Amino acid sequence: MQFKAIEGQTLVANRLTLSVDEGRVAHAQMLVGAPQATALAIAYAQYLCCTNRRHYEGDGQRADSCGECPSCRKFASLSHPDLGFVFPATKEGHDDVSPSQEHQADFVKFLEESHQCGTYDDWLAALNIEKKQAKIYVADANFIVDRLSLKSYEGGYKMMLIWLPEKMMNDAANKLLKTLEEPIGQTLIMLVSADSSNLLPTVISRVQTINIGTGAEAEPSDETKALFVSWMRLLFKLNMRALSDTVDTMAAMSRDQLKRFLVYVLDQFQRSLMTHLAGDNQPLGTGDAKFDQSFPTMVTTNNAEAILNAINNTIYAIEQNAHAKIALMALSFTLSKHIKNR
Ligand SMILES: [Zn+2]
Repeated sequence: MQFKAIEGQTLVANRLTLSVDEGRVAHAQMLVGAPQATALAIAYAQYLCCTNRRHYEGDGQRADSCGECPSCRKFASLSHPDLGFVFPATKEGHDDVSPSQEHQADFVKFLEESHQCGTYDDWLAALNIEKKQAKIYVADANFIVDRLSLKSYEGGYKMMLIWLPEKMMNDAANKLLKTLEEPIGQTLIMLVSADSSNLLPTVISRVQTINIGTGAEAEPSDETKALFVSWMRLLFKLNMRALSDTVDTMAAMSRDQLKRFLVYVLDQFQRSLMTHLAGDNQPLGTGDAKFDQSFPTMVTTNNAEAILNAINNTIYAIEQNAHAKIALMALSFTLSKHIKNR
């Protein structure tokens, strides 16, 4: 899969290709959001391994894999020997047998037939086990650890895509912690989650999370845009009373509204990053021309990763029913610090 085949995800694609070009590939990353997260993860791995990466001028997509080199051709058939898959399945055989290992061919076929956009329910239907529960078991975790401890076949990255880690048994997740933290050699572990709210905090804390949204969000309301602009302006002044009022307005939203708002904020920072770092003009469209022009310069290579992580962590905390006001105040101080120390 090339990025160009994935609709409506240019911002995330640009962030991913930029991280490869700048040599900042975190070894454990999680893409959260349906339904294109799987395709994005595979396109990312393909780009990482491509021997003839393409770069484009102008706005829009900044780069892509070539789609033609030997590595890209192996990705096209999902048969790259250094790319493994682990996913929920049902346990049929002995406890030591990894259901994922047993079903690799079925899963590859499912990815192909679903254009890498299938859901958990689609997968159960493909296996004809609609009424059963599929899980990721300890034997699957052992499969991951064993596979990633081997040498890479092609001399490049060893890659493992863990599909729907929220279906992982706790004891399996615990087996993985060390590998997530310090894998051996050049390794990329990609977690693709449709719902990260059920994941263990010990897993979340070891991966870099990228919330991708659905790609089909409604245009934010004028109120949402105005709230974002006034919040960001307050981070410079740190007028505590006004900041407290603004945070109260955000904390009064429903969890879902607040999550959508924070995804919008995340998107604005990603746009700023692409505009400022990659010269790829991504208008913020807040309706405040002065703000739209000056704000992107606040995001630099020094602070971008910390800012994006802080917002992602807050989204996760909100999903976990954290106290909204406290989480938003903490986020405000973190953002303020990073924007000032850019
Ligand atoms: Zn290629």
